[in-house]
Amino acid sequence: MPDRPGAATAKETTRRDLRTGVPVWLRRGNGAELGRTLDGTLTVDVAILGGGVSGALVADAVLQAGKTVAAFDRRGFVRGSTPASTALLQFEIDQPLTKLGQRIGKARAARAWWRSAAAVDQLRGRIADLGLRCAFKERPSAYLPGNMLDLGALRHEAEERERIGLRSTFIDRDALRRLTTLDRPGAIWSRGGAEVDPAQLVRGLWRSTAARGALLHAPVDITAIDAGRRGVTLGTACGATIRAKHVVLATGYELSAMLRPRGYTVISTFAIATKPQPRALWPSRCLIWEAADPYIYARTTSDGRIVAGGEDEAFSDSDARDALIPAKTARIAAKLRALLPGVDTEAEFAWAGAFGQSASGLPAIGPVPGAKGLYAVLGFGGNGITYSMIAAQMLQRAVLGLPDPDADLFALA
Ligand SMILES: Cc1cc2nc3c(=O)[nH]c(=O)nc-3n(C[C@H](O)[C@H](O)[C@H](O)COP(=O)(O)OP(=O)(O)OC[C@H]3O[C@@H](n4cnc5c(N)ncnc54)[C@H](O)[C@@H]3O)c2cc1C
Repeated sequence: MPDRPGAATAKETTRRDLRTGVPVWLRRGNGAELGRTLDGTLTVDVAILGGGVSGALVADAVLQAGKTVAAFDRRGFVRGSTPASTALLQFEIDQPLTKLGQRIGKARAARAWWRSAAAVDQLRGRIADLGLRCAFKERPSAYLPGNMLDLGALRHEAEERERIGLRSTFIDRDALRRLTTLDRPGAIWSRGGAEVDPAQLVRGLWRSTAARGALLHAPVDITAIDAGRRGVTLGTACGATIRAKHVVLATGYELSAMLRPRGYTVISTFAIATKPQPRALWPSRCLIWEAADPYIYARTTSDGRIVAGGEDEAFSDSDARDALIPAKTARIAAKLRALLPGVDTEAEFAWAGAFGQSASGLPAIGPVPGAKGLYAVLGFGGNGITYSMIAAQMLQRAVLGLPDPDADLFALA
């Protein structure tokens, strides 16, 4: 509640147990801490809460805009949800283009899909610009029929995507078998996706921003946000104060009480990684996912493992989630075996995490209503990393005072 006219204040963000188990990317540990502690008062143009992929990409983008930047994380940099990600980089939104069109109108749905496609291209370019070593590899994707879209609906979805110029096309059983060994009646085949090691990517991004002058501080728990007319003041558990013209809440699935986004929920998801088996992998090594609920998806890694996941549960309670890890691990392995009978599906790594989804499949990114200078990134969805890139572009414009053509699509209600 505002404590005076023109001001909006909030206390802490929620606290969650974001993940359990060892994601394959952390098999050699968390890596060195990137931030340092903080005391006293700090003044910057842009303060970013959150040391995950959203915070890192926003930091990179606002540095490009010539702003001074400081970032903070209560756990440490790259210690939240990001290293639990299976990191399929896709432009494909959870809501098929045809279904999103029915919900928000065809033209707006096309814009959302196009923005997503452009974001993957921009992320690819940024990784190349910065020379980040993060096992980035371009991969096509195969989207298989399921209980969300049957074969006919999948064919129609492919036609609609082609109609707006996206790099998707319908392939039949024979082509799918040749490219993937999968025995399904058809699929949408899309170009423009990729796979990456999310922990390496985001550590590399933070190191690069620090080398260009960003201040990284952790562990720093932001416990108070006071958005006034002349800027935003942040209070911390360690007693330090931060003042900034712009503050970006990139706190992942731990939301500030200021945000009450309708239709955005936190659920639970599960993932496994097999041992390396480069010779047993499918020929194209494409990303694989299903138009189904519950769904399974799979990708490969640079050392020839298979990473697979899905089996989402609609609750966010971490104890209940963690109790399911053995059963979910077995289920994902069994589904993978049914899909790809020639591979070893035994899990060498298994983990579970909080996961955000939205009713429309779209993220919420932009100014926090009623709080001048405050912005939020809710990249909820299966392609959350792509959404973090969209957020970076939008917030770069916002701090420069420029409008974004898609602000209406992603506005926080
Ligand atoms: C198992 C799994 C699989 C996934 N697979 C994919 C995929 O294949 N492709 C894809 O694109 N996306 C995927 N996602 C989603 C993607 O990983 C997320 O969208 C993304 O990692 C979120 O990044 P973030 O930076 O917003 O959040 P985080 O990485 O969680 O970072 C937010 C940080 O904010 C910090 N924080 C919170 N509150 C405060 C505070 N008050 N003060 C200071 N710090 C604070 C937290 O400590 C945390 O480190 C997956 C997610 C999971 C869990």
